[in-house]
Amino acid sequence: MSTRPGLTIIGSGFAGIGMAIKLKEAGYHDFVILEKASDLGGTWRDNTYPGCACDVPSHMYSFSFELNPGWSRMFSPQTEIWDYMRACVEKYGLAPHFRFGKEVVGLEYDDAARNWQVGTGDGETFTTNAIVSGIGALHVPSYPQIPGRERFRGPAFHSAEWDHSVDLTGKRVAVIGTGASAIQFVPRIAERAAHLTVFQRTPPWIQPKPDFALSPRMKRVMRLPGAARTLRNAIYWVLETRALGFTVDPRLMKVQEAVARRHLERQVPDPELRAKLTPDYTIGCKRILLSNDYYPALTRDNVDLVTDGVTEIRENSIVDATGGEIEVDVIVYGTGFKVTDALNEQRIIGRNGLKIQEAWQNGIEAYYGITTAGFPNLFFLLGPNTGLGHNSVVFMIESQVKYVIDCLRLLSRTGARALDVRPGAQRAFNDRLQERLHALVWNEGGCRSWYLDEHGVNRTTWPGFTFEYWARTRRVRPEAYELIH
Ligand code: NAP
Repeated sequence: MSTRPGLTIIGSGFAGIGMAIKLKEAGYHDFVILEKASDLGGTWRDNTYPGCACDVPSHMYSFSFELNPGWSRMFSPQTEIWDYMRACVEKYGLAPHFRFGKEVVGLEYDDAARNWQVGTGDGETFTTNAIVSGIGALHVPSYPQIPGRERFRGPAFHSAEWDHSVDLTGKRVAVIGTGASAIQFVPRIAERAAHLTVFQRTPPWIQPKPDFALSPRMKRVMRLPGAARTLRNAIYWVLETRALGFTVDPRLMKVQEAVARRHLERQVPDPELRAKLTPDYTIGCKRILLSNDYYPALTRDNVDLVTDGVTEIRENSIVDATGGEIEVDVIVYGTGFKVTDALNEQRIIGRNGLKIQEAWQNGIEAYYGITTAGFPNLFFLLGPNTGLGHNSVVFMIESQVKYVIDCLRLLSRTGARALDVRPGAQRAFNDRLQERLHALVWNEGGCRSWYLDEHGVNRTTWPGFTFEYWARTRRVRPEAYELIH
């Protein structure tokens, strides 16, 4: 296959696959998808921990142009989502575009040639006119900086790198972290382990998960004309109403908080345990979690919740802030991902030798999360400030994919070789964005989350309704861009 593709997509998760499908539909066939792993799927390939499922309903967490009436549940498990992605690749004939085992290690813009050099870990270089980065925000595991971590003698692994060779049956297991991933695998470990100790730093807000299996009859109904679309639309608008508390005023979160509080009261009768599990920040400040089996797992006799903080890890034990030493055989880190630093650590060199770290010295930012001044024809999918707390990011990806195609059409129409967002347009967009975010729950909710960078600035979430983002990215404003001929 050519090492001079017209366009290069990095990553084969929902973003990369969605981009590839829409490129083909728009008549662009000269592209490759570089994937570091040996298989496609991104998040849904990497995260194989027990209980892994999506916490957004499947009929919404899928492409709008590729509805799947056959989803087995409202919230489908990881394997089924991965199968769905593979089915999309097959249906749209994307296989010839994949290059597996190609970890992108550097991107460099050539000012004279007006193209990009894409270097991969195996020493190959691709020369390409445009790049779409679909690497996602949540893929570099973050391990906690706990003294002695490397001294631990037993198996220890991160939720996104689950070691399936370790049988947890009958073992004393420690889980560090109580985020979106941990609350899914803790109930599964609790069933098997001799003893499970869950180390919680900050309690999450958890609401009931309206999950159920879709019966064969319901699936038949879903196949009727318009049924799957109607269900998707209904889910979209239900989720979108949740945006009110996120985008308008954190005080509107009170209803959400009442739902979560009632869920906790119902599922955890012990007042002492309940107190430990009650958050002291506004709901939504961290991701709102959904689970019906996490709290019950914590009430089991073989499970302890430790909230005193981990101070040290020793050869066979974990020490908490009270000096208590808990002997364990296995440690599972459910400690999340490096988010803003993962984007910022990439080796990307744009116009006139501009490094992405220089461009982003005050924090990562882009125009609608997609383009960044000084880096022509480089498009980010799920880039800065396009994450969500209330709806499906696949919707955001689709808006972005459409925007990228509109940019390519602008290039074709004008005969320009590249487009570079004007610094003024990017500045004005981000000033307004930060002004809006300032008063919202992620900043004002009284918690510390991965949505904020080390300066406390929100670099990850979109502050509005998703239909606002869709409407504002429907057409490229040519005046926001410098066209390079
Ligand atoms: P996360 O939500 O960032 O949770 C990490 C957990 O580890 C938090 O409880 C955190 O505590 C704790 N932690 C981090 N460093 C620690 C340390 N040094 N000592 C003690 N505890 C520490 O990570 P995640 O659960 O992997 O989820 C990340 C994101 O992935 C989610 O927000 C979500 O967007 C996505 N996700 C989605 C799904 C889905 O179903 N769609 C499922 C899983 C994940 P603090 O709260 O105190 O920081």
